[in-house]
Amino acid sequence: MPEALYIHIPFCIKKCLYCDFLSVTYNEALAKAYTDALCKELVLKKDFAGELKTIYIGGGTPTILPDECFRQLFTCLQNNYSLSPSPEITVEANPGTVDESKIKTLLSLGVNRISIGVQSFNDDELKTLGRIHTSDEAMKATEAIKDSGIKNFSIDLIYGIPGQTLDSWKHTLSKAFTLSPAHISSYELTPEKNTPLYGLIESGKISMPDEEPVLSMYGYAIDYLSSRGYEHYEISNFALPHFKCLHNLNYWDRGEYIAAGAGAHSFIRGFRSKNTDDIRRYIKDLNKGIIPEPESTEIKCEDATKEFIFLGLRKTEGISIAKAKELGLDMPGVCSELIEDGHLEIQGDYVRLTRKGLVVSNSVIVRLFEGLGLD
Ligand code: SF4
Repeated sequence: MPEALYIHIPFCIKKCLYCDFLSVTYNEALAKAYTDALCKELVLKKDFAGELKTIYIGGGTPTILPDECFRQLFTCLQNNYSLSPSPEITVEANPGTVDESKIKTLLSLGVNRISIGVQSFNDDELKTLGRIHTSDEAMKATEAIKDSGIKNFSIDLIYGIPGQTLDSWKHTLSKAFTLSPAHISSYELTPEKNTPLYGLIESGKISMPDEEPVLSMYGYAIDYLSSRGYEHYEISNFALPHFKCLHNLNYWDRGEYIAAGAGAHSFIRGFRSKNTDDIRRYIKDLNKGIIPEPESTEIKCEDATKEFIFLGLRKTEGISIAKAKELGLDMPGVCSELIEDGHLEIQGDYVRLTRKGLVVSNSVIVRLFEGLGLD
């Protein structure tokens, strides 16, 4: 039974220009009705969950919710779910919606990990991304988290922003480092279709940086953070010892998870299912006692193998050769060419991406799939 629970909060103050997550402009009445619906869904799903080791409240901007909604949510969780003795409980936060009082409320409810979306410590880059905050505000919000005494907090950063230079990326990383986060996520900006940023690029109003400087930014982050004690444990994630994100590790290990909220995905007994993206329909269905999951797909053998490879290779430890064998895969044999050209290597029982392979991981995975005869 799933030991991980994801809860989606689809509200933000304003949509960022690059955002393709499910989130709409915050409205208090809608957020309260949504919290009621979430609690109904959590009650309906309680028998599908095991003893929870991780809970992740993501968004959107969860910290936009009023304290009373958080209290209602956590009361519902306590009354209906059993928690392991020391579960990891994460809440995502964004500058502009998090202060001392909000953090106090979260900690009093048992939250023990906060992940804050800073993205950049450069005001021009924040403007390009359409973020609602300045670099100073991001600094203050993160300092408030740090001053609360919580050790397990993470900072999200983005590189490859139009107009960004390697020097400004170095500045962002060093500012983040001065805040001593236990964890840093560093994502490359990928303009998704149907975002205003994509439209601006398509119309030539702004241009993305060239590939080479972006690869240098990624390489610099790996070197900078690794030399400061952060383990590069996943393509985009770095953690001090004992502070890897357990909830996300479960995704990359293809562990089961249960999810609640509009657009939220669950993975239970080989089925991936997704709730409706329509927030009002989500609320309406739950008011009628229906779980609004319009899509459910059984992950059959070939797709399970593909997931095992592309999720497993995201982790820098790589894929267990023994586990792959259980799926009928001869990893050393299939990988021989990629090992020869330096994109993959074998370390003990694991096949993993080399430094050269990490920066072109997507093409390495495509070649692996081709070698295995997978589409
Ligand atoms: S804060 Fe995050 S979820 Fe909200 S609009 Fe910006 S990128 Fe999207």
